[in-house]
Amino acid sequence: MDFAWDETDEAYRAELREVIADLPRDWWENYAPHGPASPQVMDNARGFNAELARRDLVVRHWPSAYGGQDADAWKQIVISEEMWSLGEPRSSLYLGANWAGPAIMKFGTEAQKQKYLRAIAEAKLLWCQGFSEPEAGTDLGNMKTRADPVPGGYVLNGSKVWTSYAARADIMFLLARIGGKGKGGVSCFLIPTDTPGIEIRPIRGVHSEWDFNEVFFSDAFVPSDALLGEEGNGWAIVQTIIHYERIGAARYEKSARGLDHLVGILKARGQWDDPVCRAECAAARSLVEAARLLTYRVIDGRAKQREPGAETYLARYAMIEADHAVANITSTWLPDLLIDGADGHARAQFNSAITAGIAAGAAEVQLNMVSGRHLGLPRGA
Ligand SMILES: Cc1cc2nc3c(=O)[nH]c(=O)nc-3n(C[C@H](O)[C@H](O)[C@H](O)COP(=O)(O)OP(=O)(O)OC[C@H]3O[C@@H](n4cnc5c(N)ncnc54)[C@H](O)[C@@H]3O)c2cc1C
Repeated sequence: MDFAWDETDEAYRAELREVIADLPRDWWENYAPHGPASPQVMDNARGFNAELARRDLVVRHWPSAYGGQDADAWKQIVISEEMWSLGEPRSSLYLGANWAGPAIMKFGTEAQKQKYLRAIAEAKLLWCQGFSEPEAGTDLGNMKTRADPVPGGYVLNGSKVWTSYAARADIMFLLARIGGKGKGGVSCFLIPTDTPGIEIRPIRGVHSEWDFNEVFFSDAFVPSDALLGEEGNGWAIVQTIIHYERIGAARYEKSARGLDHLVGILKARGQWDDPVCRAECAAARSLVEAARLLTYRVIDGRAKQREPGAETYLARYAMIEADHAVANITSTWLPDLLIDGADGHARAQFNSAITAGIAAGAAEVQLNMVSGRHLGLPRGA
């Protein structure tokens, strides 16, 4: 395959780079190493995102009826590559643009589409994702947070954990149970994070002390129009979301530019003459390019309106492997870069690689999906 970007993709990338040029000069020192959920990045994202929106750059691939420009699906990966390679200066705007928006487009009422899709295109909302619970991560069907129907809406009770961005986000895409067991009864809600009855407490992570949050719901009332789709139909929505979420973030580009950065330092230090070092860098580069091409295959299917399949999990797993391979170059050949303040670029790549195999579904779970749905292997094989 002879892959090349077309001129509209190149022009779009150039426009994005004009906005990127205005990021703070100390981006790699004082912003990116703290992660996209840090107060630094989230606060900076408000102005950065507004500039993206002013130039109609946020969701160019969406229908014009919802604030896009009817461009092809490739634009989504172009913006993702440009942003993730920098540690995601949009912060959690990406979450709305990558998967909450498409879920609303598919399952929302016209009023919800007009309200939320426009707000995403105009970069007015930072999002968070309330899925995981203390007893429900991989096994989401075990979730217990309840949404009890009452006149005019629902009352929420329960708790969520590992909720990135929640402390500064405007809106949460929440899973809560309206009766039922396992996957039955799971329902999706779009709720403002300042709803009375919601308490948010930070949890420290590898990036910073603000990486995650616990979110507690105590008789929090939300109106009926906070429900997305039908009551109890949340699992079907989650299945749609997964295909957008798992490869929505172009992590391979962050790995690629992180590796280029490391190779520059290895050369400057004379370590590039070591054939073992060069071979390990070459192996890491191969994994990065494999992840890139597997992702492009999924985007190609999307651009041709094909239903997403198990290739999503293959691409996601390849990204995790690529991320780990580049982080291993740092820890093996350049460990001094990981000392606090030594090299923000290396640090940002290394930190996000640590969590890559857990966020958005554990690596082992992606492999289970590949073995069952892609290779057709029987369970337990
Ligand atoms: C950086 C980061 C950001 C996150 N952000 C959010 C967020 O914003 N919102 C949110 O809701 N959640 C978020 N999470 C939570 C994440 O979705 C969960 O951690 C993940 O789904 C795994 O769930 P768990 O932590 O309960 O681990 P478990 O489900 O207990 O899994 C632990 C380990 O057990 C193994 N395992 C479990 N099940 C299987 C299986 N079926 N087959 C093989 N092995 C298995 C795997 O090794 C797995 O890593 C985030 C996590 C990280 C690391």
